[in-house]
Amino acid sequence: MRIINPATEEEIAVVAPGDVEATVALARKAFVSWRDVAPGERARLLRLFASKVEEHLDELAQLEMANAGHSEGNARWEAGNVRDLLNYYSGAPERLCGRQIPVANGWDVTFHEPLGVVGVIVPWNFPMPIAAWGFAPALAAGNTVIVKPAELTPLTALKLGEIANEVLPEGVLQILPGHGSEVGAALVKHPDVRKICFTGSVEVGKQIMAACADDLTRVTLELGGKSATILFGDADLAKAAKALPDAVFDNAGQDCCARSRLLVERRVYDEFLSLLKPHVESYECIPLISAEQRERVKSYVDNPLIQAPVKTGKGFWFPATVLAAGERDWNEEIFGPVLSVLPFDTEEEAVRLANDTEFGLSGSVWTRDVGRALRVSRAVEAGVISVNSHSSVRYWTPFGGVKQSGLGRELGPDAPLAFTETKNIFISTEE
Ligand code: NAD
Repeated sequence: MRIINPATEEEIAVVAPGDVEATVALARKAFVSWRDVAPGERARLLRLFASKVEEHLDELAQLEMANAGHSEGNARWEAGNVRDLLNYYSGAPERLCGRQIPVANGWDVTFHEPLGVVGVIVPWNFPMPIAAWGFAPALAAGNTVIVKPAELTPLTALKLGEIANEVLPEGVLQILPGHGSEVGAALVKHPDVRKICFTGSVEVGKQIMAACADDLTRVTLELGGKSATILFGDADLAKAAKALPDAVFDNAGQDCCARSRLLVERRVYDEFLSLLKPHVESYECIPLISAEQRERVKSYVDNPLIQAPVKTGKGFWFPATVLAAGERDWNEEIFGPVLSVLPFDTEEEAVRLANDTEFGLSGSVWTRDVGRALRVSRAVEAGVISVNSHSSVRYWTPFGGVKQSGLGRELGPDAPLAFTETKNIFISTEE
């Protein structure tokens, strides 16, 4: 696979696809001893892994900038997020204890047993953090993990694999590059893979869920989004106007949680768009991931209300753009820096419009009325909502979608449990 820098269109690496059979066999072998590593030792190794990620933070960030076109600030945050996830979940092995239930003639004892080999399939938009959402809690719970990075962005995952090899026993964390329809599909189908954590498109998510049905392989799906910001007239409009561009244009809108729909109370619609305009016009987007992605994004844009200057020359650039909502851009996930805007008159109408989508991942509510903030946040069908903010993924809280945005939750304190099966052993004390 030829790896291209999306800001320069230059080839920066060539990566060969991995061998699925050999990788799964090694993960299976490594599992036999990794599952029995004492919890305190597993915790120590995860902390050591985190410190090695910190040592390589500059290099990881540079690689992500070159491979995914990310800004330096984001790329450093992403590598730091991997370190933080490893540190956070290093607290889990010693706390993953079952229960003891005394009964008349003995004891019931439950254990949280690791599943075995876990496959983590990652998209190209946030290659490092999304890999770590899966591997950090899975490793903490005693599983071995195979990460299948996206074909466009394997470089940071491969580097993380190298770092892991310095600190973890061989085969505990492996990186398996390759095309989704070949390497990815073979990993999902492999009978020795016990769970798949998939992040990516709805279409592929459904194929994976169907494939997992054959062996009842456990599966979590983190899929697309079309999240809404609902802005009420009583909100701090200047603050919202300053915050909103990052909510949708950060990472050039290639973010499953991007607030790509904006619902504005009609009485402040014109005022808010005037406040928003300078922030959009001065916004500098990173490049899109590929020429194909840029063509896709372009196909949604006709007659923008507001647009940042168009950047020309090499690189897959597309400017921050605001549209008066049309049918296609309002309903479909664009995965580019495009915001569609629609006015509303009542709270009820705002909630109805926000929910009129097949997706349900994230969203924001802007208001100074705390009662309304809670009412509307609960009424919007989404896995995570922020009030007067556009924050979405916070590793210490559960994350995931409803409706076609996904199945299951990742992150938060309980994530390691999702990589275990509970087993009960009854011990008779009868003579
Ligand atoms: P994609 O579905 O095309 O690919 C995702 C991954 O799946 C890649 O590694 C790919 O190689 C692999 N893959 C493709 N076909 C496969 C198959 N048949 N079997 C197994 N693996 C296969 O998605 P993408 O274009 O890389 O990413 C963009 C999508 O990801 C968007 O829809 C976005 O919303 C979604 N996403 C969701 C979240 C979330 O947490 N909900 C986060 C980031 C991105």
